[in-house]
Order: sequence, then C-alpha cells, then structure tokens
Amino acid sequence: MSNLGWLFERIWDVRAILDILVVTFIIYWLLWVAQGTRALTLIRGIVTLFAFLFLLGWLLQLDSLNWILRNVWPALLIAIPVIFQPELRRAFEQLGHTGSWLKNPFPNQEETANDHAVDEIVRAASQLSRLRYGALVVIERETGLQDYVGKGVSLDAEISRQLLINIFFPNTPLHDAAVIIQGDRILAASVVLPLTDNISASSQLGTRHRAAIGVTEESDALAVVVSEETGQMSVAHSGRLIRNLDQDRLRRVLRTLLKIQTPESPESSTSGRFTFASIFNSNGSSTRGQRDAATSRKRTTTRSS
Ligand code: ATP
Ligand code: MG
Repeated sequence: MSNLGWLFERIWDVRAILDILVVTFIIYWLLWVAQGTRALTLIRGIVTLFAFLFLLGWLLQLDSLNWILRNVWPALLIAIPVIFQPELRRAFEQLGHTGSWLKNPFPNQEETANDHAVDEIVRAASQLSRLRYGALVVIERETGLQDYVGKGVSLDAEISRQLLINIFFPNTPLHDAAVIIQGDRILAASVVLPLTDNISASSQLGTRHRAAIGVTEESDALAVVVSEETGQMSVAHSGRLIRNLDQDRLRRVLRTLLKIQTPESPESSTSGRFTFASIFNSNGSSTRGQRDAATSRKRTTTRSS
C-alpha cells in the first residue's frame, strides 16, 4: 500500500512538472506570436504602468489605489482578448496550419532595413517616379507589421529594385496597395494599410498618401510613396509626410531616419541615370524593345543610304 502511495506521489510530481511545462510553453508561445506586432508594445506599456502603480501603492500605502489594482484583474481578463484580438486570431490561425507551424513555431524577427535595402528602394522609387507608376513601400522598424502582412500577399523575397518595379507595374495582380519590407526581404505585397484620420492631411491627400501616413501613426515604420499623378516621391514617418524629394534627398532622409551609419557607396548617389530597359536587363545585353528599335534604326539608315 505504501508502495502505491509512493507511486501516486511520483505520478503527481510528474503531472505537476508537466502542468508547469505546458503553461510555460503556452505563455512563451503567446509572447512569440505577439513579438513583431503592435501587441508587444502594448504589453510593455501595460506591464510598465501596472508595475509603477503597484510600486507606488505599496511604497506609499495608498489604500484606494491598492484596492483598484486588486480588483482590476477580472476586468483585464475580459479586456485582454478584446485588445489582442488580432494576435490571438493569428495564433489560432497558425495552429490551424499545423504543417508550417510545426516546422517553424517561433518564426524569427529580422533586423530593420539595411544599406542595401535602402539603396534598392531608392533606385526603384526614382525609376517608378520617372515612369509615373504609383507605389507605396513600408519599411518595418521596431514595431512588427505582421498584422498587416497577414492581410496581403505573402512573398518573402530578397529585395531588389527590379522586383519592386515589377510589383508596382500597372495592372499587374500585385500593383495595388503597399509592399512591406523587413530587413532586406520583401515580406508581402498588396497590403492594405490603415488610413490616417488626420483631417488636415485627409483634405489634401489621396488614399495612397493617407495610407502611408496612417501606417506611420500606428507604428514606427517608414513609408516611401511615389505619386502616380505627379511622380513626386515622399516619405512618411511618425504621422508626418516629407514631400517632393529627389533621389539623393530620399536616400539621405531614409538613411537618417533609419540611423544607417555606414558610408554611402560612391555609385549610389549618381545612380539615377539608368534607363527603364536597363532595370529589366541589368546584365548589359539589349532587351527586345532595344533590339527592335536598333533594328528599325538600321533599316531606316540602310534605306536612306
Ligand atoms: P497618387 O498621387 O498616386 O494619385 P493619392 O494619394 O492621390 O496617390 P489615390 O489616387 O487615391 O491616392 O491612390 C489610389 C491607390 O492608392 C490605390 O490604387 C491603391 O494602390 C493605393 N491605396 C489606396 N488605399 C490604400 C490602403 N488603405 N492601403 C494601401 N494602399 C492603398
Ligand atoms: Mg490620386
């Protein structure tokens, strides 16, 4: 009998350990899901506020504050699912895609955009501006943009100006809405962003520029906009829009805002003089269009001689 008691005790111990492991795993996983989203900033804010208030109430023995803090927990239990509804939904969606989730339950967060990414974005924007193709490129920083990425078309491709130009080519499936960049990867295209509520901005600007401002109000991201109507390039940050930038100023603004310390590569500042054809054919051989033009020029010359 005593042997049985010992066995039950052991089983209970194992169950308690399992219990703790499962709870730890759930909390850890939820934090991973929240990582890279606005929820993490929110969680940090809530924890800091509560820690401060608890400390204040405890040190100064403030009875009313302590009473409120003791009784606010049940309300938080209801508030949390409401506040973190997008993150919780994403977590359950991930669980639904069991295959990919098992392969990568805790996806890695990449660094912010680097020098190369900025160079590619600037070159692409300049070319798009010359062609008068509208574009909206969002560069992720500290605040993750996974909430928006999930609503667009996932790409996860290495950044290049050719790809960016291709994405914003008019009437192609991905040209509408925004592209999101994380580090030197294009995470997604066709991403619909929140529009700013700023009334003064709304009255003068169209939806592309309002979406650029909107995403920078909701996060610390930067947004590069190319206007389809005017070809103007602008950068949105912290809810503000820096307008009418040329290629060099765009590069300088982005490098400053992203705090890129490395020196600019010598070729980048004079990089604006490549042709549309050279973008699509950077290996130097002539494109079909160029070949056709050359052939017709040759024919004309031959005829006239
Ligand atoms: P432009 O100067 O290029 O005309 P705009 O600021 O005047 O830009 P619109 O003319 O309204 O804006 O541009 C419409 C385009 O903006 C849409 O085709 C779409 O690609 C993009 N857009 C509109 N709303 C959003 C949104 N919520 N998120 C991302 N992109 C959007
Ligand atoms: Mg417009």
